[in-house]
Amino acid sequence: MSFNHSDQKRVLITGAAGFLGSHLCDRFIKEGCHVIGMDNLITGSMNNIQHLFPLKEFEFYFHDVTKFVHVPGRLDYILHFASPASPIDYLKIPIQTLKVGSLGTHNLLGLAKEKKARFLIASTSEIYGDPNVHPQNEEYWGNVNPIGPRGVYDEAKRFMEAITMAYHTYHGLDTRIVRIFNTYGPRMRLNDGRALPAFFAQAISGNDITVFGDGSQTRSFCYVDDLVEGIYRLLMSDYVYPVNIGNPDEITIREFAEEIIKLTGTDQKIVYKDLPKDDPKQRQPDITKAKNILGWEPKVTRSEGLKITYDYFKNILKKEEKVM
Ligand code: UDP
Repeated sequence: MSFNHSDQKRVLITGAAGFLGSHLCDRFIKEGCHVIGMDNLITGSMNNIQHLFPLKEFEFYFHDVTKFVHVPGRLDYILHFASPASPIDYLKIPIQTLKVGSLGTHNLLGLAKEKKARFLIASTSEIYGDPNVHPQNEEYWGNVNPIGPRGVYDEAKRFMEAITMAYHTYHGLDTRIVRIFNTYGPRMRLNDGRALPAFFAQAISGNDITVFGDGSQTRSFCYVDDLVEGIYRLLMSDYVYPVNIGNPDEITIREFAEEIIKLTGTDQKIVYKDLPKDDPKQRQPDITKAKNILGWEPKVTRSEGLKITYDYFKNILKKEEKVM
Protein backbone atom coordinates (compact mmCIF):
# COMPACT_ATOMS: atom_id res chain seq x y z
CA MET A 1 0.00 0.00 0.00
CA SER A 2 1.35 3.46 -0.74
CA PHE A 3 0.38 6.66 1.05
CA ASN A 4 0.31 10.29 0.10
CA HIS A 5 2.79 11.43 2.75
CA SER A 6 1.35 14.89 3.20
CA ASP A 7 -1.97 13.29 4.26
CA GLN A 8 -0.44 10.55 6.35
CA LYS A 9 -1.31 11.15 10.02
CA ARG A 10 1.64 11.33 12.41
CA VAL A 11 0.99 9.80 15.83
CA LEU A 12 3.11 9.91 18.98
CA ILE A 13 2.45 6.99 21.34
CA THR A 14 4.15 7.10 24.75
CA GLY A 15 4.65 3.80 26.55
CA ALA A 16 5.00 2.29 23.10
CA ALA A 17 6.97 -0.73 24.34
CA GLY A 18 4.34 -1.59 26.94
CA PHE A 19 1.41 -3.97 26.71
CA LEU A 20 -1.23 -1.48 25.55
CA GLY A 21 1.17 0.95 23.83
CA SER A 22 2.57 -1.74 21.54
CA HIS A 23 -0.90 -2.90 20.47
CA LEU A 24 -1.81 0.73 19.74
CA CYS A 25 1.33 1.10 17.59
CA ASP A 26 0.21 -1.94 15.58
CA ARG A 27 -3.28 -0.51 15.15
CA PHE A 28 -2.21 2.95 13.99
CA ILE A 29 0.28 1.49 11.53
CA LYS A 30 -2.54 -0.68 10.19
CA GLU A 31 -4.62 2.50 9.77
CA GLY A 32 -1.89 3.95 7.53
CA CYS A 33 -0.35 6.34 10.08
CA HIS A 34 3.27 7.19 10.74
CA VAL A 35 3.90 6.07 14.33
CA ILE A 36 6.52 7.54 16.64
CA GLY A 37 6.86 5.27 19.66
CA MET A 38 8.41 6.62 22.85
CA ASP A 39 9.44 4.66 25.94
CA ASN A 40 12.11 4.68 28.65
CA LEU A 41 11.79 0.90 29.07
CA ILE A 42 11.34 0.98 32.86
CA THR A 43 8.44 -1.45 32.56
CA GLY A 44 8.17 -1.80 28.76
CA SER A 45 10.03 -4.35 26.64
CA MET A 46 11.60 -4.05 23.20
CA ASN A 47 10.27 -7.56 22.49
CA ASN A 48 6.81 -5.99 22.15
CA ILE A 49 7.81 -3.72 19.27
CA GLN A 50 10.80 -5.34 17.58
CA HIS A 51 8.57 -6.49 14.70
CA LEU A 52 7.90 -2.79 13.89
CA PHE A 53 11.52 -1.67 13.46
CA PRO A 54 11.83 -2.80 9.80
CA LEU A 55 8.83 -0.63 8.86
CA LYS A 56 9.42 2.85 7.48
CA GLU A 57 6.13 3.92 9.11
CA PHE A 58 7.66 3.39 12.56
CA GLU A 59 10.32 5.24 14.55
CA PHE A 60 11.33 4.77 18.15
CA TYR A 61 12.56 7.35 20.66
CA PHE A 62 14.17 6.07 23.86
CA HIS A 63 13.04 8.87 26.16
CA ASP A 64 11.62 9.59 29.62
CA VAL A 65 8.57 11.83 29.15
CA THR A 66 9.03 13.43 32.57
CA LYS A 67 11.91 15.32 30.89
CA PHE A 68 11.21 17.92 28.18
CA VAL A 69 9.83 16.12 25.11
CA HIS A 70 11.01 17.14 21.67
CA VAL A 71 9.62 15.59 18.49
CA PRO A 72 10.55 17.16 15.16
CA GLY A 73 7.91 17.67 12.48
CA ARG A 74 4.13 17.66 12.49
CA LEU A 75 2.05 15.65 14.97
CA ASP A 76 -1.66 14.97 14.50
CA TYR A 77 -2.32 12.77 17.53
CA ILE A 78 -0.59 12.16 20.86
CA LEU A 79 -1.62 9.14 22.95
CA HIS A 80 -0.14 9.14 26.44
CA PHE A 81 0.14 5.53 27.60
CA ALA A 82 3.43 5.68 29.49
CA SER A 83 3.00 4.56 33.12
CA PRO A 84 3.70 1.65 35.40
CA ALA A 85 0.36 -0.12 35.60
CA SER A 86 0.35 -2.84 38.24
CA PRO A 87 0.18 -2.65 42.04
CA ILE A 88 3.61 -4.31 42.32
CA ASP A 89 5.13 -1.65 40.05
CA TYR A 90 3.61 1.19 42.07
CA LEU A 91 5.19 -0.23 45.23
CA LYS A 92 8.59 -0.59 43.55
CA ILE A 93 8.65 2.74 41.70
CA PRO A 94 6.13 5.06 43.35
CA ILE A 95 7.88 8.34 42.50
CA GLN A 96 8.25 7.51 38.80
CA THR A 97 4.57 6.50 38.78
CA LEU A 98 3.58 9.91 40.15
CA LYS A 99 5.94 11.76 37.83
CA VAL A 100 4.89 10.13 34.57
CA GLY A 101 1.21 10.87 35.25
CA SER A 102 1.83 14.46 36.36
CA LEU A 103 5.05 15.96 34.94
CA GLY A 104 4.95 13.66 31.91
CA THR A 105 1.37 14.63 31.11
CA HIS A 106 2.22 18.32 31.47
CA ASN A 107 5.16 18.02 29.03
CA LEU A 108 3.04 16.15 26.51
CA LEU A 109 0.18 18.66 26.80
CA GLY A 110 2.70 21.39 26.03
CA LEU A 111 3.85 19.43 23.00
CA ALA A 112 0.24 18.87 21.86
CA LYS A 113 -0.48 22.60 22.18
CA GLU A 114 2.63 23.49 20.20
CA LYS A 115 1.82 20.98 17.44
CA LYS A 116 -1.96 21.54 17.55
CA ALA A 117 -2.30 17.78 17.99
CA ARG A 118 -5.30 15.91 19.39
CA PHE A 119 -4.35 14.52 22.81
CA LEU A 120 -5.69 11.29 24.33
CA ILE A 121 -4.81 10.12 27.83
CA ALA A 122 -4.95 6.63 29.28
CA SER A 123 -6.91 7.10 32.46
CA THR A 124 -8.15 4.17 34.47
CA SER A 125 -10.90 2.57 36.53
CA GLU A 126 -8.49 3.12 39.45
CA ILE A 127 -9.70 6.71 39.60
CA TYR A 128 -12.92 5.22 41.08
CA GLY A 129 -10.81 3.67 43.88
CA ASP A 130 -12.71 1.11 45.99
CA PRO A 131 -16.04 2.13 44.50
CA ASN A 132 -19.27 2.69 46.42
CA VAL A 133 -21.23 2.79 43.17
CA HIS A 134 -21.65 -0.37 41.13
CA PRO A 135 -21.24 -0.68 38.17
CA GLN A 136 -19.08 2.42 37.82
CA ASN A 137 -20.35 5.11 35.46
CA GLU A 138 -18.40 8.18 34.37
CA GLU A 139 -20.40 10.48 36.67
CA TYR A 140 -19.11 8.71 39.81
CA TRP A 141 -16.24 10.65 41.45
CA GLY A 142 -14.61 7.72 43.18
CA ASN A 143 -13.39 6.61 46.60
CA VAL A 144 -9.60 6.81 46.57
CA ASN A 145 -7.16 6.69 49.50
CA PRO A 146 -4.56 9.29 48.45
CA ILE A 147 -1.86 8.02 50.83
CA GLY A 148 -2.43 4.26 50.38
CA PRO A 149 -0.21 2.02 48.21
CA ARG A 150 -2.35 2.63 45.13
CA GLY A 151 -2.54 6.39 45.79
CA VAL A 152 0.57 7.13 43.71
CA TYR A 153 -1.12 5.69 40.62
CA ASP A 154 -4.72 6.70 41.32
CA GLU A 155 -3.93 10.30 42.22
CA ALA A 156 -1.48 10.74 39.32
CA LYS A 157 -4.24 9.57 36.96
CA ARG A 158 -6.78 11.88 38.59
CA PHE A 159 -4.37 14.80 38.21
CA MET A 160 -3.84 13.70 34.60
CA GLU A 161 -7.56 14.02 33.93
CA ALA A 162 -7.70 17.41 35.70
CA ILE A 163 -4.80 18.96 33.80
CA THR A 164 -6.03 17.53 30.50
CA MET A 165 -9.48 19.09 31.04
CA ALA A 166 -7.78 22.37 32.03
CA TYR A 167 -5.80 22.44 28.76
CA HIS A 168 -9.03 21.74 26.93
CA THR A 169 -10.93 24.50 28.73
CA TYR A 170 -8.24 27.18 28.91
CA HIS A 171 -6.21 26.51 25.76
CA GLY A 172 -8.91 24.98 23.58
CA LEU A 173 -6.79 21.84 23.14
CA ASP A 174 -8.58 18.95 21.46
CA THR A 175 -8.53 16.24 24.16
CA ARG A 176 -9.90 12.75 24.89
CA ILE A 177 -9.97 10.76 28.14
CA VAL A 178 -10.36 6.99 28.19
CA ARG A 179 -10.93 5.21 31.52
CA ILE A 180 -9.48 1.77 31.02
CA PHE A 181 -10.74 -1.19 33.06
CA ASN A 182 -8.78 -4.44 33.58
CA THR A 183 -7.44 -5.55 30.22
CA TYR A 184 -5.53 -8.68 29.21
CA GLY A 185 -3.98 -10.37 26.23
CA PRO A 186 -0.65 -11.19 24.57
CA ARG A 187 2.35 -9.02 25.63
CA MET A 188 1.27 -8.68 29.24
CA ARG A 189 4.30 -9.07 31.45
CA LEU A 190 4.38 -12.50 33.05
CA ASN A 191 5.88 -11.21 36.29
CA ASP A 192 4.04 -7.93 36.81
CA GLY A 193 2.13 -9.33 39.79
CA ARG A 194 -1.30 -8.98 38.23
CA ALA A 195 -3.79 -11.76 38.78
CA LEU A 196 -4.01 -13.04 35.21
CA PRO A 197 -0.29 -13.41 34.39
CA ALA A 198 0.37 -14.67 37.93
CA PHE A 199 -2.27 -17.42 37.61
CA PHE A 200 -1.03 -18.48 34.17
CA ALA A 201 2.64 -18.48 35.25
CA GLN A 202 1.77 -20.52 38.35
CA ALA A 203 -0.37 -23.00 36.41
CA ILE A 204 2.21 -23.50 33.66
CA SER A 205 5.22 -23.80 35.95
CA GLY A 206 3.49 -26.03 38.52
CA ASN A 207 3.13 -23.68 41.47
CA ASP A 208 0.14 -23.08 43.72
CA ILE A 209 -2.38 -20.52 42.44
CA THR A 210 -2.26 -17.54 44.83
CA VAL A 211 -5.66 -15.95 45.39
CA PHE A 212 -5.54 -12.88 47.63
CA GLY A 213 -8.16 -12.54 50.37
CA ASP A 214 -11.07 -14.98 50.08
CA GLY A 215 -11.28 -14.33 46.32
CA SER A 216 -14.76 -12.80 46.54
CA GLN A 217 -13.54 -9.47 45.11
CA THR A 218 -14.64 -8.96 41.53
CA ARG A 219 -13.06 -7.68 38.33
CA SER A 220 -14.25 -7.48 34.70
CA PHE A 221 -11.62 -8.40 32.12
CA CYS A 222 -11.50 -6.95 28.61
CA TYR A 223 -9.53 -8.50 25.75
CA VAL A 224 -6.91 -6.13 24.36
CA ASP A 225 -8.25 -6.01 20.76
CA ASP A 226 -11.63 -4.82 22.02
CA LEU A 227 -9.96 -2.14 24.13
CA VAL A 228 -7.86 -0.87 21.21
CA GLU A 229 -10.98 -0.64 19.03
CA GLY A 230 -12.72 1.43 21.73
CA ILE A 231 -9.74 3.77 22.09
CA TYR A 232 -9.49 4.21 18.33
CA ARG A 233 -13.19 5.09 18.09
CA LEU A 234 -12.91 7.55 20.99
CA LEU A 235 -9.94 9.30 19.39
CA MET A 236 -11.87 9.65 16.12
CA SER A 237 -15.00 10.92 17.90
CA ASP A 238 -15.50 14.50 19.06
CA TYR A 239 -16.34 13.60 22.68
CA VAL A 240 -14.06 15.31 25.21
CA TYR A 241 -15.36 13.92 28.53
CA PRO A 242 -14.17 10.63 30.07
CA VAL A 243 -15.44 7.38 28.56
CA ASN A 244 -15.20 3.96 30.24
CA ILE A 245 -13.81 1.23 28.03
CA GLY A 246 -13.94 -2.27 29.47
CA ASN A 247 -15.85 -5.53 29.42
CA PRO A 248 -18.80 -5.61 31.86
CA ASP A 249 -18.60 -9.41 32.20
CA GLU A 250 -17.85 -9.45 35.95
CA ILE A 251 -16.31 -12.41 37.79
CA THR A 252 -14.94 -13.10 41.28
CA ILE A 253 -11.19 -13.62 41.46
CA ARG A 254 -11.75 -17.11 42.89
CA GLU A 255 -13.90 -18.12 39.92
CA PHE A 256 -11.35 -16.53 37.61
CA ALA A 257 -8.56 -18.66 39.14
CA GLU A 258 -10.77 -21.73 38.68
CA GLU A 259 -11.29 -20.87 35.00
CA ILE A 260 -7.53 -20.70 34.48
CA ILE A 261 -6.99 -23.98 36.35
CA LYS A 262 -9.56 -25.62 34.05
CA LEU A 263 -8.15 -24.10 30.86
CA THR A 264 -4.55 -25.08 31.62
CA GLY A 265 -5.47 -28.50 33.02
CA THR A 266 -3.05 -27.98 35.92
CA ASP A 267 -3.19 -30.13 39.08
CA GLN A 268 -2.25 -27.12 41.18
CA LYS A 269 -4.54 -25.99 43.97
CA ILE A 270 -5.62 -22.52 45.04
CA VAL A 271 -3.84 -21.14 48.13
CA TYR A 272 -5.20 -18.06 49.87
CA LYS A 273 -2.89 -15.16 50.79
CA ASP A 274 -3.49 -11.84 52.56
CA LEU A 275 -5.51 -9.29 50.64
CA PRO A 276 -3.31 -6.28 49.77
CA LYS A 277 -4.27 -2.95 51.36
CA ASP A 278 -6.97 -0.93 49.55
CA ASP A 279 -7.67 -3.74 47.07
CA PRO A 280 -11.01 -2.74 45.44
CA LYS A 281 -13.84 -5.12 46.41
CA GLN A 282 -15.68 -4.84 43.13
CA ARG A 283 -15.16 -3.42 39.67
CA GLN A 284 -17.41 -3.40 36.63
CA PRO A 285 -17.65 -0.74 33.94
CA ASP A 286 -20.93 0.87 32.97
CA ILE A 287 -20.34 1.17 29.21
CA THR A 288 -23.59 2.90 28.27
CA LYS A 289 -21.65 5.96 27.10
CA ALA A 290 -19.24 3.99 24.92
CA LYS A 291 -22.23 2.16 23.38
CA ASN A 292 -24.21 5.33 22.70
CA ILE A 293 -21.42 7.69 21.66
CA LEU A 294 -18.95 5.34 19.98
CA GLY A 295 -21.21 2.46 18.95
CA TRP A 296 -18.70 0.27 20.77
CA GLU A 297 -19.03 -2.84 22.89
CA PRO A 298 -16.64 -5.73 23.51
CA LYS A 299 -16.81 -8.69 21.12
CA VAL A 300 -14.30 -11.19 22.47
CA THR A 301 -15.59 -13.53 25.19
CA ARG A 302 -13.39 -14.38 28.15
CA SER A 303 -13.04 -18.00 27.04
CA GLU A 304 -11.83 -16.90 23.56
CA GLY A 305 -9.47 -14.26 24.93
CA LEU A 306 -8.03 -16.51 27.62
CA LYS A 307 -7.22 -19.24 25.07
CA ILE A 308 -5.20 -16.79 22.93
CA THR A 309 -3.44 -15.41 26.00
CA TYR A 310 -2.62 -18.92 27.28
CA ASP A 311 -0.96 -19.79 23.97
CA TYR A 312 1.09 -16.60 24.17
CA PHE A 313 2.30 -17.30 27.73
CA LYS A 314 3.13 -20.93 26.90
CA ASN A 315 5.35 -19.75 24.03
CA ILE A 316 7.06 -17.12 26.14
CA LEU A 317 7.88 -19.63 28.87
CA LYS A 318 9.14 -22.15 26.29
CA LYS A 319 11.49 -19.49 24.85
CA GLU A 320 12.74 -18.59 28.35
CA GLU A 321 13.48 -22.28 29.08
CA LYS A 322 15.52 -22.52 25.85
CA VAL A 323 17.60 -19.48 26.83
CA MET A 324 18.33 -20.88 30.32
N1 UDP B 1 -4.75 -11.13 42.88
C1 UDP B 1 -4.74 -12.42 43.37
N2 UDP B 1 -3.59 -13.16 43.19
C2 UDP B 1 -2.48 -12.70 42.56
C3 UDP B 1 -2.53 -11.38 42.04
C4 UDP B 1 -3.67 -10.62 42.23
O1 UDP B 1 -5.72 -12.89 43.95
O2 UDP B 1 -1.48 -13.44 42.47
C5 UDP B 1 -5.99 -10.33 43.07
C6 UDP B 1 -5.76 -8.87 43.50
O3 UDP B 1 -5.63 -8.77 44.89
C7 UDP B 1 -7.03 -8.23 42.98
C8 UDP B 1 -7.37 -9.04 41.72
O4 UDP B 1 -6.66 -10.26 41.83
O5 UDP B 1 -8.09 -8.38 43.88
C9 UDP B 1 -6.95 -8.35 40.42
O6 UDP B 1 -5.63 -7.96 40.56
P1 UDP B 1 -4.81 -7.25 39.42
O7 UDP B 1 -3.48 -6.88 40.02
O8 UDP B 1 -4.81 -8.10 38.22
O9 UDP B 1 -5.63 -5.94 39.06
P2 UDP B 1 -6.22 -4.72 39.92
O10 UDP B 1 -6.31 -5.07 41.38
O11 UDP B 1 -5.32 -3.57 39.66
O12 UDP B 1 -7.56 -4.57 39.31
